[in-house]
Amino acid sequence: MPRYEYRCRACGDTFEVSRPMAAASDAAACPQGHDDTVKLLSTVAFTGARASAPVPRPTAGGGGGCCGGSCGC
Ligand SMILES: [Zn+2]
Repeated sequence: MPRYEYRCRACGDTFEVSRPMAAASDAAACPQGHDDTVKLLSTVAFTGARASAPVPRPTAGGGGGCCGGSCGC
């Protein structure tokens, strides 16, 4: 379930709410109970997305030398 980060304009607190995408635009009350909150668009995160994200291709060797097999030394 996606997590959305909100900021409360009443107390300035930021908090995350896990909710269905269908409810993403609904108002979210802050932990202190204020409902004057704004959604922070930059922090939408999908649970598990990192696990399936492409990982950088590992470089040959790993010793930092030239003997990764491509130079013939
Ligand atoms: Zn608040």
